[in-house]
Amino acid sequence: MPARTKFFVTGVVILAITLAFDASAAVPVRHHVAAGYLVVFAIMIALAERLQVRYFYSGHVEAVTLVESVFAPLVFCASGRDVVLTVAGGVLLGEITGRNGITKSVFNIAQWVAAASAGSLSLHLSGTGSTPAESALALVGAMLVVWIANQVLITGVLCFVAGHPLGSRESSVVSLVVLGRLGSFVASTVLGLLMTAAFLWLPWVAPLAMMPLAFMWSAGRAETSLRADRRLLDGLQRATHHLATSLSASSALPPSLAEARAAFEVKEIQLVLVSDSGFPMIYRCQDEADGGCTAEIAPHGLAELLVDSLDEPTRLGSSGSQLAAALGAMGYQRALAAPLLAGDTRLGVLLLLDREGAEGFEDGELSIAGALAREIVGFLERVELVRAIDDERRKLADIVENTGDGIVSLDADGTILSWNAGMASMTGYTADEMVETRHFGLLRPRDAQGNDVHFGTWASGPGTDGLATDLQVVAADGSTVWLSCSYSRVPAREGRSESLITVARNVTKARELDLLKDDFIAVVSHELRTPLVPIKGWAQTLLNRGDRLTEDQRRTAVRSILTQAQRLEALVLNILESSRVEAGQSEALDSVDVAAVAIRVVEDVLAARPDRTIRVAPPTVPSQVRGSTVWIERAISNLVANAVKYSQDDQPVDVVVAVSNGAVSVSVTDRGPGISPDAQERIFDRFERLEESNKQTGTGLGLYITRRLARGMGGDVTVSSLPGAGSTFVLTLPEASNAVPGLPAPRSAPEVVNLG
Ligand code: ADP
Repeated sequence: MPARTKFFVTGVVILAITLAFDASAAVPVRHHVAAGYLVVFAIMIALAERLQVRYFYSGHVEAVTLVESVFAPLVFCASGRDVVLTVAGGVLLGEITGRNGITKSVFNIAQWVAAASAGSLSLHLSGTGSTPAESALALVGAMLVVWIANQVLITGVLCFVAGHPLGSRESSVVSLVVLGRLGSFVASTVLGLLMTAAFLWLPWVAPLAMMPLAFMWSAGRAETSLRADRRLLDGLQRATHHLATSLSASSALPPSLAEARAAFEVKEIQLVLVSDSGFPMIYRCQDEADGGCTAEIAPHGLAELLVDSLDEPTRLGSSGSQLAAALGAMGYQRALAAPLLAGDTRLGVLLLLDREGAEGFEDGELSIAGALAREIVGFLERVELVRAIDDERRKLADIVENTGDGIVSLDADGTILSWNAGMASMTGYTADEMVETRHFGLLRPRDAQGNDVHFGTWASGPGTDGLATDLQVVAADGSTVWLSCSYSRVPAREGRSESLITVARNVTKARELDLLKDDFIAVVSHELRTPLVPIKGWAQTLLNRGDRLTEDQRRTAVRSILTQAQRLEALVLNILESSRVEAGQSEALDSVDVAAVAIRVVEDVLAARPDRTIRVAPPTVPSQVRGSTVWIERAISNLVANAVKYSQDDQPVDVVVAVSNGAVSVSVTDRGPGISPDAQERIFDRFERLEESNKQTGTGLGLYITRRLARGMGGDVTVSSLPGAGSTFVLTLPEASNAVPGLPAPRSAPEVVNLG
């Protein structure tokens, strides 16, 4: 207790004692009051002090008592000593029954004794008058003295001890307080005059004056509890409003619980939600000053006891049971626990902990807490439902976004409603560019026959039969993309018009392969037939009139058959190798002497074309590589065959094998028409043939295979050519890092072997 409180109370006590002695010594009995009535007055004072009448004004509550009214008959009739004793006894009784603290009780007794003594003395000094009117006036004067003394002491307490100077309150409230106190003075004085008159007339009538006081008190109590209920319901409405307007537990529960805590006027409110993963989730809300609202996952002893057993809102007391012990362990004496039940599922428990003030929880509050618990259950169910819907939506969105297929939905008028990532990667147009537009036409969609397809009018046709399954569209980069589409119409529903969902798969590669296959079959069948014609012709001639042919003619016939057979063989080998390379099959790697292979290839070519000149220049050092003999032979053979095929018969072909910088190269040089620079890369593509070469037979597979084989062994094939001057194709292969023992000794000097 602050020292100034002690100081002030001591001062008031001294004042009261002084005034009490003065009054006792100076004021004699004016009208006899029986000792029994003094006791009645004392009881009336005690009652009047308890029967506070509350009044409300703009959210503030003020309380007045009409204790002064009981003083009136006492002060008017009794001796100073009786006044002091009766008032002291009455107030003491009131303090005991009101269970007020010692300091407050001492102050109250001293305050009322001082005020009553002052009133008694002032009436004594002014005299009671000779007529009733004068007496009444004197009594009013004495009541004024009582009232003033009382107000001075109370205001003193407020300003001096409690540190609430009157001026610190809102001016409207100050005027209310002053008005209220003046009102209480008027009411006390009128009631006091009536009681005095009644007491002088018939002493037993005076106590009946307590009845209006009792009525006012009970009306005040009813008003107070009504207001408390209304405030509770208002608070509850605000609490449920938070639950109704949000679908996130973390943002809705704390403010809702804070409102509920304030409405129930409890020290703390806790919402304990059980979870499958061990400890429950606890939302706590205390007074802002005590930390506001927090959420944590932690063990909760009381909730563990309650969750499985509680079926309806229940009060928990401060003693006895295990529950009370758990409550006590949390530092609380009283609690209201309401279960959170969703059908048979127990979601948790709502705990209201320690009502502010003395009272416990009323029955009505149990029902209201139950209603709040049901609102919370409804909220949690909604949150769970939304979470489940959101999960499903997310899963679907993930599927739609991550599938390689394009998925696009169109409104009845062709407006694009959705455009997934697959569609974006196939066409190069992003969802931002396409959604909410009618830009499907940007893709210039056409069917397999090249007819325009209009998606803006899809809804006018029946079903989806009229929509092209194979669609060619133009991507953002100008390339043509082939789409294989399937369509489904989604009927109009819930305010949404009918829509068309198109699932598109990029089949450009497959389509190119189909075209290639067609080309391949056409080319290969033609190429296979071409050598067969002279073979069949010459064979027929030899058979029918071989004996009539000269030796030279027979030689020519057989050589022609051999040449064509070699072409056929080369063709078949290329095709075979092509499919092996496409299938990713590789040959076993050996140590291969490239120069030896080159010489062998040239010898084979010359056997069929003895009229041609083909020179080979092997290197002076070993030309060992790690590779496949078959592949290297195929590659060199293709290059030499081309050089022979695309140059004049009288022009020589040079084959040079060289070793330098860790690589073995085979250059095949002809003096043919050459290849224009822009075609020099293209000729390595599959089935690529230059127009000017059309008079020569060919498949367009040779260089393609050659490059694939070379790259398969870590090398490459390049061309350098001057149109009109001839071409040089160079096959490069990495030299074998370690020479294989037993290889032929390096040749001493470059040697041109003219095999022609
Ligand atoms: P093919 O010879 O069966 O047509 P290739 O793939 O071997 O197929 O050659 C592709 C094309 O490259 C040939 O059609 C020809 O137009 C051109 N070409 C290849 N080699 C030469 C060369 N030595 N001189 C000129 N053009 C050539």
